[in-house]
Amino acid sequence: MSKLSIRDLTVEDREVLMRVDFNVPLDEGAITDDTRIEAALPSIRYLIEGGARVVLCSHLGRPKGEPDPRYSLRPVAVRLSELLGKEVSFASDCIGEDAASGRAQLGRGDVILLENTRFHAGEKSNDQDFARALAGAADYFVNDAFGTAHRAHGSTEGVTRYVEKSAMGFLIEKELKYLCEKLENPERPFVVILGGAKVSDKIEVITSLLEKADCLIIGGAMANTFLHAKGHRMGDSLLEADKSALALDILSKAESKGVKILLPLDTRITQEFKDGAETRVTAPYSEGGEVEDGWEGIDIGDVSIGEFCAEVAGAGTIVWNGPMGVFELTSFEKGTKELAHAVADSQALTIVGGGDSVTAVKKYNLGESMSFISTGGGASLELLEGKELPGVTALTDI
Ligand code: AMP
Repeated sequence: MSKLSIRDLTVEDREVLMRVDFNVPLDEGAITDDTRIEAALPSIRYLIEGGARVVLCSHLGRPKGEPDPRYSLRPVAVRLSELLGKEVSFASDCIGEDAASGRAQLGRGDVILLENTRFHAGEKSNDQDFARALAGAADYFVNDAFGTAHRAHGSTEGVTRYVEKSAMGFLIEKELKYLCEKLENPERPFVVILGGAKVSDKIEVITSLLEKADCLIIGGAMANTFLHAKGHRMGDSLLEADKSALALDILSKAESKGVKILLPLDTRITQEFKDGAETRVTAPYSEGGEVEDGWEGIDIGDVSIGEFCAEVAGAGTIVWNGPMGVFELTSFEKGTKELAHAVADSQALTIVGGGDSVTAVKKYNLGESMSFISTGGGASLELLEGKELPGVTALTDI
C-alpha cells in the first residue's frame, strides 16, 4: 500500500486528530450496539500507548448540518471511557472554543472526543474553513473510518490539507488488504455472490467483476430482473423491468468473457409478504416454471440452493454482497441462511461486504467462520468497483 499507515507515525507528544466511525445505533440516548467503538480501539490504544495527545472525531446519524441533541456523541464518550479504562473528555462542539480549550489541556496519552462533525453543514460540503478549524493544531491526521472513506467530507478529506502528515488506521488498512490486495490475484475459482434488491445499485460492481471473477452467483430480487429479461413470467415479483436490456447485455458480456453467471433455477414464492405466510417453490424454469400473477418471488428455490452451495464449496475465493431473499423474515430466509452456512464452511478466502449480508452473517452467528467482514457497505462496493476512496487518496503517499 502506497499510503502512510498509523505505524509509520512517531506520535509521542504530538497531537493526532483521528477520524473514527462512531456512528452507533442509539435508543433514547443508550447505545444498543458498540461494535463500531470496539473496532476503533486498536488504533486508539496504539496512539495512547505511543504517547500522543488523541483527538477523536466522528459523525453520528443524519443531523441536518446543525446541532441536534438526538445525535450527540456524548454517550459514546462515556462508553469509550469504560472500554479504555481511562477518562475520555468531551467537547460540546467539534470546532470553536470548547474544542480548542479541551484540546489544549490534553497531556500525553490523553483522549478527547469531539461532538458530531455533522452538526456543521461544512462537514458534508467539505468547506475548507470548517476543515481547517477541525484540523486545529493537530500535527497528524489518522483516518480509521472506512464506512465514510468513500465520501470527500471535511473530516475525511479536507483536514488532510492542514496537517503535516495523514495516515490510515488499522481498520482501513485491513479493509484495503482484503478488498484490494487479496483480490488482485485471487485464489481461483473466484466466486462472487451478489444479491439484494436492485440491479441498478450494483451495475458498476457487476461490470467491474466481469473482468476479475470466474463465476457470478446472482440471487435476491435482482435475480428477478434477469429472469424477467430472459422471458420468464415473474408474477408480482419485485423487479426492474426497465433494466431488461442491461441485464441481457451483462449476460452476453459474461458469456463472451467466459465468466459463468448462475441465476436461480427456481424461486420461492408467496402471496403474502409477511412472516408465517405460506410459501411454495416454482418448478425449475428449465421445465417451464413460472411465477403466476398474485405471487411474488421472495427467495431462491431449493434446486438453486443446491447449485449455489455446490459452486461455493469449490471456490478458492468468495466475495459475498447482498442476501438471496427477504432473510429478515424467517419464512423467507432459507436461501440466505443455507448459502451463509456454505460460505462459512468453505475452505476459500471468504469476504463478506455490504450491510445486509453482514447482518445475515451475524444473525446466523457465522462471523467467526469468515476470513473478513467489511465494516462499510458503500465503501466496500466502491472498492470492488475498482474506484478510489477520497478518504484514502487524500492520505500522505509513502
Ligand atoms: P440491498 O440493500 O440492495 O442489498 O437489498 C437488501 C434487501 O433486499 C434486503 O432487505 C432483502 O429483504 C431484500 N430482498 C432480497 N431479495 C428480495 C426479493 N426477492 N424480494 C424483495 N426483496 C428482496
